[in-house]
Amino acid sequence: MTRLLIVSNRLPISIRVDHGALCLTRSSGGLAAAMRGPHERMCAVWIGWPGSVAGLTPEQRQDADAALAGIRAVPVHLGATEQHRFYDGFSNGVLWPLFHYLLDKVNLDAELDWEAYQRVNERFADIVADQYKPGDVIWVHDYQLMLLPALLRRRLPGARIGFFLHVPFPSADVFRILPWREQIVRGLLGADLLGFHTAGFRRNFAASAAHVLGLDPDEAAIEHDGRRVALGVHPISIDAAEIARLAAHPGVREEAARIRAEAGGRKIVLGIDRLDYTKGIPRRLLAIERFLEREPELRDQVRFIQLAVPTREMAGAYAEFRRVVHEMVGRINGQHGTTYATPIHYMHRSVPFEQVVALYLAADVMLVTPLRDGMNLVAKEYVAARIDHDGALILSEFAGAASELAEAISVNPYDIGSVAAAVKRALTLPLAEQQTRMAALRRRVDAHDVHRWSQSFLDDLDRAAAPALEAAALSAQAARREVPESVVERVRQAPQRVWILDYDGTLVPFAPVPDLAAPDEELLALLRALSERDRVHVVSGRPRADIERWFGALPLHLHAEHGFWSRPRSCDDWVPLESDAAAWKGDVRALLEDFTRRTPGSFIEEKTVTLAWHYRTADPELAGEHVRALRARLAERVSADRLELLGGAKVVEIRPRGVHKGRVVPLILDDVSARAEVIAIGDDRTDEDIFAALPPTACTIHVGGNDQSRAVYRLPDARAVRRLLRSIHA
Ligand code: UDP
Repeated sequence: MTRLLIVSNRLPISIRVDHGALCLTRSSGGLAAAMRGPHERMCAVWIGWPGSVAGLTPEQRQDADAALAGIRAVPVHLGATEQHRFYDGFSNGVLWPLFHYLLDKVNLDAELDWEAYQRVNERFADIVADQYKPGDVIWVHDYQLMLLPALLRRRLPGARIGFFLHVPFPSADVFRILPWREQIVRGLLGADLLGFHTAGFRRNFAASAAHVLGLDPDEAAIEHDGRRVALGVHPISIDAAEIARLAAHPGVREEAARIRAEAGGRKIVLGIDRLDYTKGIPRRLLAIERFLEREPELRDQVRFIQLAVPTREMAGAYAEFRRVVHEMVGRINGQHGTTYATPIHYMHRSVPFEQVVALYLAADVMLVTPLRDGMNLVAKEYVAARIDHDGALILSEFAGAASELAEAISVNPYDIGSVAAAVKRALTLPLAEQQTRMAALRRRVDAHDVHRWSQSFLDDLDRAAAPALEAAALSAQAARREVPESVVERVRQAPQRVWILDYDGTLVPFAPVPDLAAPDEELLALLRALSERDRVHVVSGRPRADIERWFGALPLHLHAEHGFWSRPRSCDDWVPLESDAAAWKGDVRALLEDFTRRTPGSFIEEKTVTLAWHYRTADPELAGEHVRALRARLAERVSADRLELLGGAKVVEIRPRGVHKGRVVPLILDDVSARAEVIAIGDDRTDEDIFAALPPTACTIHVGGNDQSRAVYRLPDARAVRRLLRSIHA
């Protein structure tokens, strides 16, 4: 059976010392609950922080280690300062508020915290790599470990790595605020599968990757670094059957009856949240106040219960927030309380889960109004607990759960008046309507429970990683195919050498605008030196004018526009391959002009026989959309006019079929001796035509990552090409 390595910031068990004694407590929270099943079923090892062990005696430390080993948990120990900077500082002081759109809370002056974040992610990577055995599946969780996928990919190139983000992914415009945005995106793209709660969060991530790294994502995947990273939508859920079982338990029902009796016939409106500023508690309290003011006749018939679970007590922002909420509760109760009742029954503590379910059972209305929430499990738990199919759920449209729970009463948590109105509506909702809505909600929560969530993520990860495993094998092969020294020596000794060199991406790296990729002095000197003894052909897709301007003065053989034009060494004239090959251009140019108008930053490049639409400098999202549309529009023209469409690096090129770089090969080889070494070097699809046209004895070299190529050897980049040229010439 495949073994699973679960990696999360916290272990599902926390260690602490209470009055001198070692205590192990189950960690609460959705992640711990969701992964408990796979941890047991898949013989999984769970790697994470177990809490501080600083106060433990050596014996207690041993006991703790043994207890953790017994439940297949591997601790990542962190020093107090490091933990504080990593967790409170960067994770919760920067990423948490940014990802929840609370920009005034984001601390961007966090260089030291960022350093700790990197160090802790490295520490996790070392420990995971240590635990890893070939065949294992690694599942990394949440925003504290976003660098980990890439760190693991470096250590374990062939591993299956999944990542799930339990919080929202913000829109690209918000994400781009982060000074460390590039590292974060690169970190995530080390995974085979990235999972998000909603299609919206996935879209936001894809758009961010497009902006930050200039990638070209499609809806469900991103190509990066020669790998394909799948993007999935996997809304997390709860153990609905277990909650229903608890809700039917006589003890829990008794407790629910007691809560109701205590309310003295009043209807109960319930809120349960961690006391986190994302949960919208202050605005919710103001909405309750508005309700109390607006509805004098309902006022005495309602009891609001708010359970605020203490959280992140060490962080400054939370202490201040707690004070604000407590004052607000005090003020509203002071103003609206009577001799017989206080409107808001407020508890600042956590309670056992049975008590939580009893509260769900007792509540006529559940008020879930976060300003932004990855999912919100409380909403789903309320639904699962309503085994009598009644009750009303008021749900913020900014919770991830809103995209699944359409039958809830949806509210904008920023709009206090409409939340107050929703409370009234929920309290007066006819039973039949409550039941219709609740039945639909329950069906959905039952069907998409947490077991299904983890299984579907792991199934998708399997599918996503299969091609990546093949690619890893291919790239291992590719690494072996770097030009061996024996071949370099053979080329060096050859009586005659013929070079066929592509230009962009081969002799110079890509520039954002083609005009900026002019050859530098070093390259010109190198080509001049090389052509003293050898025949050097530059075969480029560029227009004649560029090639002429740059290389016209050198003793080179020049070929422009994919070989349509050739200018032999020491001739002044360019010779075309065919006469009228460009009759089709009028309409296509008009179409491209239309797309250029609609895509700011894009531009048309016109050559004698081809037209190219460049979008490297356009907004990547808009360009991505328009490239797909353009291709669809061109598809008909292409077959009617015997044209072909080439997709290059951020460019779409249209040219007559049959005009390709391979056509110049017979001309080049025409009077070449059989003992000559022919070396062809190129980086993109158009150079494959050259490789295909050459005899198998030629030395063909592909430049770049792991792309498929028919070339025999490969080099990583233009710098390596120049090194090779220099080493032959020397
Ligand atoms: N919860 C808890 N103790 C309590 C009250 C609630 O453990 O005293 C649980 C609740 O049942 C739910 C979780 O805390 O499973 C809160 O998850 P949610 O997704 O709503 O918010 P998060 O805390 O993850 O932001």
